[in-house]
Amino acid sequence: MTSAKERSSTQERAKHRTTGAFRCLSCFERLSPPKGASLYTCPKCDYEWRVAWFTPEEPRIRGPVWESYERLNQARTKGEK
Ligand SMILES: [Zn+2]
Repeated sequence: MTSAKERSSTQERAKHRTTGAFRCLSCFERLSPPKGASLYTCPKCDYEWRVAWFTPEEPRIRGPVWESYERLNQARTKGEK
């Protein structure tokens, strides 16, 4: 009986686990890209990420989009005088 109870509570927790979101690797903001998106720009720090879908519900960061990464770095370097 105890094991059945444990199993149901585990399922309950899994249901409440946050899906459809990942953390920005730059500023750690929680991002929720639209389903199926392959690119997503963090609204907080403007870094653009490549998104992979582990399941249709679970996005993951595959890596930065280097073009925007370099553009942002250059823009920031120029901004700092
Ligand atoms: Zn960010």
